[in-house]
Amino acid sequence: MSTTTTAGTATPATSFAERAAEFARARGYPPFEAPDLAGTALRQREELVRWHGGADDPFDREWVYPGRTVIEVPGLTWPAARPEECSDDSGRGIWFAADGSQITDATDPDAPDGIALLCPQCGLDST
Ligand SMILES: [Zn+2]
Repeated sequence: MSTTTTAGTATPATSFAERAAEFARARGYPPFEAPDLAGTALRQREELVRWHGGADDPFDREWVYPGRTVIEVPGLTWPAARPEECSDDSGRGIWFAADGSQITDATDPDAPDGIALLCPQCGLDST
């Protein structure tokens, strides 16, 4: 009879949100609150990020809140494959609307609401 829970080996079907929360807790932080992408064309990349930038200089790496990750925009390929390989130093982000379109002028009163603010090179969520 085996009624006890077994520790270790591959916990079945852990969602990315759960893994991200565990990643944060293990580092002493409350779980990251990702932007709500439900009903939008945007998708969270289910890959944990260790740092941002510093592709050219390891001392230039930017700390990333544990669980914060890349957001994929339909029809758009980020120039940097991963935040760890990003060389963006503009310090700016791009706002994207729910349909995945880029908001070029966020001060325009007719512009759609920005759902996610992303790094222009790697898509790291900065919302
Ligand atoms: Zn980046």
